[in-house]
Amino acid sequence: MNKLRLGIDVGGTKVELAAIDPSGKILFRRRVPNPGEYNGLLATIRDLADLAVAEVGIEENGRKIPLGVGIPGSTNKKDGLVKNANATWLNGKPFEHDLPEVTGRPVRVENDANCFALSEAIDGAAAGKSIVFGVIIGSGMGGGLVINGHLVTGLHHVAGEWGHTPLPWPRIDEFPMPKCFCGNEGCLERFLCGPALAADWKGAGNRSAEGIENAAADGDKAAQAALDRYVDRLARACSLIINLLDPDAIVLGGGVSNLRKTLARIPSLLPRHVITPECETLILPNLHGDSSGVRGAAWLWDAAESIS
Ligand SMILES: [Zn+2]
Repeated sequence: MNKLRLGIDVGGTKVELAAIDPSGKILFRRRVPNPGEYNGLLATIRDLADLAVAEVGIEENGRKIPLGVGIPGSTNKKDGLVKNANATWLNGKPFEHDLPEVTGRPVRVENDANCFALSEAIDGAAAGKSIVFGVIIGSGMGGGLVINGHLVTGLHHVAGEWGHTPLPWPRIDEFPMPKCFCGNEGCLERFLCGPALAADWKGAGNRSAEGIENAAADGDKAAQAALDRYVDRLARACSLIINLLDPDAIVLGGGVSNLRKTLARIPSLLPRHVITPECETLILPNLHGDSSGVRGAAWLWDAAESIS
């Protein structure tokens, strides 16, 4: 039996493939530009999969190795069309229907934040933990829930989308709440995404997570104040997740997870809002970094049946 797993991560500018063995070792990896249009993407994925199989796979008796694919969006269960993709040309396309036809392989498609959560739960930072909440905080914000190795996607396939839940336990000075593109006000994403942190600092220089942390370390009081507000808000958001799901671990990913010093303060801020005297939930930096997308996609066929 062929034990190779093929994972594809469709990003905004690139398409990446990894072929991994059952132990999680990457046997083959390739990254190519995203062609930026639908038919080109289907062909790119087909070619990457065929190349990987030619290099490291064995397909006996015409049995094709299946593909797992992570996309920056999700599939509408009712009509099978992609929705909420930031690669907007993918929206409205029957990707899950077309990809098996073009590649000749069984295909599972999943949201990229769900792939991240699955990767970190199976053999990443939270390996062996029962309930794992994985979050990606970068230019936007996504999340995924894995329970006992099963991805929980939910009735509408939006489980884990905490970016569009409101900032909990708001302070008076946090009103009026910022408007969100989703139509609501005060969504977590408007407070916690990378651009929101950079805007809160208002300082000059490198406005990445590391840049702001470095500015604070160099004595920039405004940068430190922005980081203090940021970690307080993120701790409140984590407390809400703990009260709701009581996960063993919350794994942080995306560019903002590089705020290593600041995010290490989260556990000390949880007891104020978590409804249990002792809070032992692990708040973990991710293990696989940028590789979590392809790794999680590759595990989609291992994660048994997703819970929906
Ligand atoms: Zn929103």
